[in-house]
Amino acid sequence: MIILGVESTAHTFGVGIVDSNGERVPQGSSKARTEGKVLANVFERYSSKDIGMVPDEVMEHHERVAEDVLVKALEEAKVSWKEVDFIAYSAGPGIDPVLWCGYHIVKKWASEQGKRLIGVNHCAAHLSVGKMWNKLENPCYLYVSGVNTQIIVSEGGKYRIMGETLDIGLGNMLDKLGRVLGLGFPAGPKIEELAKKGKYIELPYVVKGMDTSFSGILTKCKQLVEKGINKEDLCFSVQETCFAMLAEVVERAMAHNDKQELLLVGGVGANKRFCEMLEMMCQERGAKFYKVPMDLAGDQGAMIAWEGYLRREESGDIEVNAQWRTDEV
Ligand code: AMP
Ligand code: MG
Repeated sequence: MIILGVESTAHTFGVGIVDSNGERVPQGSSKARTEGKVLANVFERYSSKDIGMVPDEVMEHHERVAEDVLVKALEEAKVSWKEVDFIAYSAGPGIDPVLWCGYHIVKKWASEQGKRLIGVNHCAAHLSVGKMWNKLENPCYLYVSGVNTQIIVSEGGKYRIMGETLDIGLGNMLDKLGRVLGLGFPAGPKIEELAKKGKYIELPYVVKGMDTSFSGILTKCKQLVEKGINKEDLCFSVQETCFAMLAEVVERAMAHNDKQELLLVGGVGANKRFCEMLEMMCQERGAKFYKVPMDLAGDQGAMIAWEGYLRREESGDIEVNAQWRTDEV
């Protein structure tokens, strides 16, 4: 099957095309299953110099780039509309008006081309594509994106959230800090750069069981910025503190669930220092650490296509659901 997946939950408008008959692994065993092959994964990301995401601007951005992204993806995949079996789209969670904007675009394409729509959960798509890429059976997931910070395991075909942020996602926290420091949006990559030249100062460390909280750390950072703290030191310390918090809670979840494999997904997973700390934690407990390549880590359409393939029997045109949680999938 050829699946065209469309992402439009937040900053990214993406079209990915996946062939479900990409590869078969492992051959001839009871675990044999089909893995998808990404034929194209084209996306455009909204960014801004000084502020975060303004929904009206994000929608305008997505409407402007949609046709171009689609054409590029079809060209890159060397696939015509005729060969596409169905369209998968991200139905949520996300920014409500941005979700509707994406939904109207796919609805139009589906009716023009006579294709079926399969709505999927954006978070589940991050997990599935990471699992597919790494050929994993049933890892412990650490999902750290803009809005989401969750530790997830799968039990009997259902996702279970072992721990999560009690307030804002780590990515959003970094982006909010970036606004205070004048780094623009998204700020994560710039914070990573600045952190390379910083030294450690103590910040609040907020872990509750397997949950974390980031808003108090952000408040403390804002106070330190007002006092004129060195940017590099602040970026270094924010990374060390927040990444250590997550390494601690995910280790607890792995021990609790007897997991020997950790899979990191979501945009913050692009951070090298974060990966290094998780790798170290895994090594120390004889577990293996997996991540996804940069182009599959953040939001994009290929993951939506793959999740759509997996959910093709159970889902359909479900409009959008801005609050759709991973454990409701
Ligand atoms: P996602 O929502 O999964 O696309 O992830 C986007 C989030 O990842 C934004 O909040 C970014 O600031 C953050 N991000 C992207 N690259 C990095 C990085 N290198 N270090 C830390 N955070 C990052
Ligand atoms: Mg995401």
